[in-house]
Amino acid sequence: MAKELKLYINGKWVDSSNPEKQDILNPANQEVIAKSPLATVEETEEAIKIAKLTFESGVWSERSPLERSTVLLQIAEKMEEHLEDIIELEIQNNGKTRREAQSDATGAVYTFRFYAGLLNNHKGQIYEYSEKLQTMIVKEPMGVAGLIVPWNYPLLMSVWKIAPALAAGNCILLKPAEITPMTAVKVFEIIDESDLPKGVAQLIMGSGSKVGQAIAESDDVDVVSFTGSTAVGRNIMQAAAGNLKKVSLELGGKSPNIIFDDANLETAITYSLFGIFMGSGQVCSSGSRILVQEGIFDDFVAEYVKRAKGIKVGPGNDENSQMGAIVSEKHMEKILNYIQIGKEEGATLECGGNRIERDGMHRGFFIEPTVFTDVTSDMRIVREEIFGPVVAIQKFKDEAEVIRIANDTEYGLAGAVFSKDQNKAMRVIKKVRAGITWINAYHLTNIQAPWGGYKQSGIGRSLGTFGMDEYQEVKQININLETKPIQWFE
Ligand code: NAD
Repeated sequence: MAKELKLYINGKWVDSSNPEKQDILNPANQEVIAKSPLATVEETEEAIKIAKLTFESGVWSERSPLERSTVLLQIAEKMEEHLEDIIELEIQNNGKTRREAQSDATGAVYTFRFYAGLLNNHKGQIYEYSEKLQTMIVKEPMGVAGLIVPWNYPLLMSVWKIAPALAAGNCILLKPAEITPMTAVKVFEIIDESDLPKGVAQLIMGSGSKVGQAIAESDDVDVVSFTGSTAVGRNIMQAAAGNLKKVSLELGGKSPNIIFDDANLETAITYSLFGIFMGSGQVCSSGSRILVQEGIFDDFVAEYVKRAKGIKVGPGNDENSQMGAIVSEKHMEKILNYIQIGKEEGATLECGGNRIERDGMHRGFFIEPTVFTDVTSDMRIVREEIFGPVVAIQKFKDEAEVIRIANDTEYGLAGAVFSKDQNKAMRVIKKVRAGITWINAYHLTNIQAPWGGYKQSGIGRSLGTFGMDEYQEVKQININLETKPIQWFE
């Protein structure tokens, strides 16, 4: 029987007053694995009120860093105990492969541990501007943090927000994507067993247009941290204007992956496949535009297409699967539509392009790794985020041209350069207008480093010390050391 999910408000699991439920599917076979509540606007406002009252009570914000970090470490430890369940839930609900889900789950545990550690070292500053005035600069929690996450990394995106927001002493509300609440529920079951005071963390499932919008609009939310599409990011910013709440946005991308003639071909091909086909291309930082220099273009494409055709697509719980399912039927249709657009625009389809229906995969949503060449910068498949296993390979002549093509996009999330000439690689990567970049690699990163984009890929940064700053106010406290007042009016 499908599990009936509940909202988590004020330390209790509660039903929504809305009888309508969202079926939660396994995208590898369309089995209904759970039924999720769709909270009302009133319930969302109630949960925000609880978070606000809890914040004002000081039960969490006034706890010492050591006490707060102890609770974060407790959550990390419990997550590790339940790691296998978490991995299984992420595979079932999102369609990821085991290897991908495992890497997300481990990353989530480390994120809690990282912020537990940082919290004891996240210092303010003291300035002695003169002998008469000493200034302390202290960081304080913001209050109520609204956390809205997408379906592509249901666990990791939730934890990238929950851990620093709690570390900083805030009270939170997490809204998972409608179709992928399973691992968020698991994290809250773990939170429920921890020593986090009741009322600090609420989990509220529901639609973006109701629950998400209510969070973004609320005068009682002090910071909204959103990961999702650029279009919804724009909405969030407008909705947040009412009380001028702080906004942190992690949005879409169409990232350039640049391969020079002098690159190590094996390294470049391996990482360029990983760059787009990991997560079935449903990754914000995917290298969805591969730019290859003309001298190696034909050799690169021949080998790349051969290897793309060899990627084993299948259900995440099959250990032979190297690329998993597409998250939903709706999203699969969107990707297939882009493939059709690419053909109509005149690009050459080198491989893939179809839904996969063999070996029982017809019950789920699977698409072949798809490669287009003969693309131009004005094509929609080159300009728009497809968010699927579809890559466009483009030819370039020289450094100046590739920098121009790489930056010819409204996005600025990620980018990579492959070359054995380190000076050239460094020169070019510094010119790529993006927040997450690589030289001779793709997708490798550390939670200690800030994650976020330039241009329309977002505002602010997750992870590292920067990720904690998003949930903190900064205050100056000026201490007068002079006993004699300044007598301004004399
Ligand atoms: P989405 O924007 O459709 O939804 C994201 C979340 O916002 C969901 O929880 C949704 O319910 C909610 N939402 C929808 N409408 C809303 C509204 N009006 N007000 C408030 N909340 C609303 O995105 P998605 O399809 O779930 O995820 C894919 C997108 O996320 C891609 O564009 C991808 O690039 C982006 N993404 C970015 C990063 C990053 O770090 N930059 C990471 C992962 C995903």
